Amino acid sequence: MLSNKDIVIIGAGHSAGQAIISLKQKKYPGKITVIGDEPWYPYQRPPLSKSFLSGDIDRERLYVKPVQYFDDLNINFQFNTHVERIIPEKNIVQTRDCDFSFDKLIISTGARPRKLNINGASLKKIFYLRRINDAENIRSSLKKNKSIVIIGAGYIGLEVTAIAIKFGMNVTVIETQDRVMSRVVSKEISNFYETEHEKNGVKFIFNKKVVSFKGDKNVEQVVLSDQKCIKTDVALIGIGAIPNTEIVNHTKIKTDNGILVDNKCCTREKDIYAIGDCANHWSSIFHKNIRLESVQNALDQAKIAVDNICGVNSIYDAVPWFWSDQYKFKLQIAGISEGYDKTIIRGDKEKKSFSCLYLKNKILIATDSINKPKDFIQSKKIIAEKIPLRLDNLTDPKIELKDLI
Ligand code: FAD
Repeated sequence: MLSNKDIVIIGAGHSAGQAIISLKQKKYPGKITVIGDEPWYPYQRPPLSKSFLSGDIDRERLYVKPVQYFDDLNINFQFNTHVERIIPEKNIVQTRDCDFSFDKLIISTGARPRKLNINGASLKKIFYLRRINDAENIRSSLKKNKSIVIIGAGYIGLEVTAIAIKFGMNVTVIETQDRVMSRVVSKEISNFYETEHEKNGVKFIFNKKVVSFKGDKNVEQVVLSDQKCIKTDVALIGIGAIPNTEIVNHTKIKTDNGILVDNKCCTREKDIYAIGDCANHWSSIFHKNIRLESVQNALDQAKIAVDNICGVNSIYDAVPWFWSDQYKFKLQIAGISEGYDKTIIRGDKEKKSFSCLYLKNKILIATDSINKPKDFIQSKKIIAEKIPLRLDNLTDPKIELKDLI
């Protein structure tokens, strides 16, 4: 029997959407209040740098459920409302205008783009990408202008690059490291993506920092650490994200690159949970705290938090996974490659369908697959169960990974 407790959810993003769905599936009888500082029902962000940015899908398709689904729920949605702080001892959430009391609280405040605070940063036509209106503004700018400088060769930067190319723009990508996506993929995968982008006309500048922007009203030039200037009509900054944790400042809830939670997504306050991009959880797989920025993590953590709120003892120990779409290439990543001691390439680079397997002490810890979904799917299970692979035939793509255990 579920208890009739009031739940408040802070943030109305992707993980909040799943928390609502899970609470409704469990026929949760208590009052549910969702407070979000955007004007929208929970929506998916991945299309913001892909099909929504290109204009291939419209806004309605972003919502995690059709608008009617949310309209029909008996939920107190508070849009355009920013939560200032929480007061755990009083079980209160404070906004500027009023207080909301809770029995159980889910914090799902996500993350915000890391800012580049340099001279000229407030010029017009310099963009960050996190929200629907960011994507709409960028799209309209891509349509009207000829050149763009992308700062940061991570997922978001490279996905926007591919769309800007589709719009016929001249694209220059500037990166402080010596290759693309260096934080997350091996050199082989970086090389593949650099080559494909270059074939489409993208220019890369590696090992350089952006030190300032120049322009009158709009950005006109991007200045690099060697004082070289690159002329541009538009700039996009994609240099990572910072978790939104400020609302727990001055409470006993600890933060360290995110709100610290255990493997049940619970903070050190027993009725307060944190999920999604804002949470830094204890991983039973990796035996350390990790903060993930992915849809899989947002959805899985929402389900775990709701289970535990509803009295079902659930533990979060999923293998992380992620994807990125650039041109016609789908990159799917299972696991976390940090600490690998060997990589093995399987498949056909020429046919643009291959995987990079990351091994540590002969155990598979991560797989990056490009247009090779079977390797990705089978890797998830092998990584989760730490099953040793027979290494002799690993490079033979005709033999499936599951037949090598
Ligand atoms: P969010 O969806 O960001 O929701 C948090 C919400 O809380 C926001 O609406 C925010 O405004 C609100 N909020 C914050 N503070 C407050 C406050 N104090 N009061 C009220 N409301 C507040 N992941 C993938 O797995 N694959 C991809 O291909 C992929 N592509 C992406 C592309 C882009 C452009 C972006 C931005 C992200 C992408 N991600 C991708 C990451 C994925 O979208 C996030 O991991 C996911 O949205 C996290 O969900 P969340 O609920 O934690 O945060």
